[in-house]
Amino acid sequence: MSVNDKCGIFGILGAPEAARHTYFGLHALQHRGQESSGIVTSTYDEAKGRPVMPIHKDFGLVLDVFDDEELFEKTLLGDSGIGHNRYSTTGESKSRTNVQPFLVHDRKGNLALSHNGNLSNARELRKSFSERGTLFQTTSDSELILHLVAQSRRERRVDQIIDALGQIEGAFSLVLLTDDHLIAVRDPSGFRPLALGRLGSIDQPGGPAYCVASETCAFDMIDADYVRDIRPGEILIIDRENAARGAHEDFESVQMRRRYGVNQCIFEYVYFSRPDSKIYGEMVDKVRREIGRQLARESPVPEVEGGEKEPIVIPVPDSANTATLGYANENNKRGHPCYFELGLIRNHYVGRTFISPGQDQREMKVRCKFNTVEGLLRGRPVVVVDDSIVRGTTAGYLVDMLRDSGAASVHFRVTSPPVTGPCYYGMDFPDPDELLANQFDSVEEMRDFLGVDSLAYLSDEGLLEAVNKANHEQLGYCTACFTGDYPVPVDADGQEKEAFEWR
Ligand code: AMP
Repeated sequence: MSVNDKCGIFGILGAPEAARHTYFGLHALQHRGQESSGIVTSTYDEAKGRPVMPIHKDFGLVLDVFDDEELFEKTLLGDSGIGHNRYSTTGESKSRTNVQPFLVHDRKGNLALSHNGNLSNARELRKSFSERGTLFQTTSDSELILHLVAQSRRERRVDQIIDALGQIEGAFSLVLLTDDHLIAVRDPSGFRPLALGRLGSIDQPGGPAYCVASETCAFDMIDADYVRDIRPGEILIIDRENAARGAHEDFESVQMRRRYGVNQCIFEYVYFSRPDSKIYGEMVDKVRREIGRQLARESPVPEVEGGEKEPIVIPVPDSANTATLGYANENNKRGHPCYFELGLIRNHYVGRTFISPGQDQREMKVRCKFNTVEGLLRGRPVVVVDDSIVRGTTAGYLVDMLRDSGAASVHFRVTSPPVTGPCYYGMDFPDPDELLANQFDSVEEMRDFLGVDSLAYLSDEGLLEAVNKANHEQLGYCTACFTGDYPVPVDADGQEKEAFEWR
């Protein structure tokens, strides 16, 4: 697995305090990556007589990496900047050099890059560079993009970037910063989200600033307005002149040729994005509630038997909260009485845990994260709703905890289909043989294994129907982790076979 997956990216141009805005944007995107964080800005150095790009990046959360006020007052100066939060994935090298954004300086000036996604032709590119004697500073795929830019024979920096992007394949949402431009890019399939926002009005001195972010919750944090999504396959070049006039329609926009259709990651709606964000043009909250309602239509709460109390419906917090509200409401609407309750409480301060030898690592991880509210659960049928079952670790331990708390019966509902396939487009899943759904032949066998009274997943069709019902754009989604239908061909090693082309 590449080291570029599951990240949060942000960029801004035309804001006097670009670094501070980037910091707040990254803070709002913290859920997309907690391993490391970085910001680079662009400013003019009078002493050197040229533009420079100061940078600060390190391992840790945004608030810890940027805990020194001087960084904003003396170091990260300028009216434009980009930032990056990297997700922690197991087994990867903890090399400091892989922390983004990446920054290079060549004959055309400074260039910085933040990347969310996976390049699928990275191996071939790296091989061809190595044969030509190119030296790499990192083991990250994203560095390859910088080498491609530097080696382009085009004149303008922007054209060099366009040239380089035509040679990469896979899932990539990017923000790039040059001495003059902020450039936002989504791969032709649009696997990962990226939106354009505007901060301030044309009446203010200097005009508005423009920003781009993985999710719009970053815009809310700095009081920017959502303008539109970066379109799948679009390279949007944000320049100072048009930004100051508020003329975003006049930003140069180049469209990469799309060979495989639009395939936005549906798992962003299921689990990854925040409910207060708009992605793919629609609020995650709205989509997630519809997903919950669809699950209620397919698999309602169990019927209560004579003398039994109505079931309580509890989400696995926080990612299942919104869908569970939709699930409980729809059940009640359809004549299946139940109560929405918060029967599981999440501890948000979970980092590395030191446990005694002999203690089960995974069990302790789940116990550190969740506890039950016994008074709510005792003697009640409990329907626990989660957004997904991946390895089944969380589900297994939660079921034990709910039973220990005296639940009369435990029923599991999942607001997505069984996860059966790895993701080659940027979502971090374990190997296929570690996925719970691949270890059993039927839902019934999984029910036995998890020790629940009933188990139901949302169907593939139900998920798509719910997403399309809530988001009228109907642009097309990647569901490969559920269906095995990989929209962009992958070979045995998870590499795309064919390249994107230009129109
Ligand atoms: P597991 O315990 O392996 O079955 O993982 C399922 C739990 O992890 C669910 O509660 C999800 O909310 C969460 N989850 C789902 N997908 C991912 C992912 N790609 N990375 C981290 N957590 C995830």
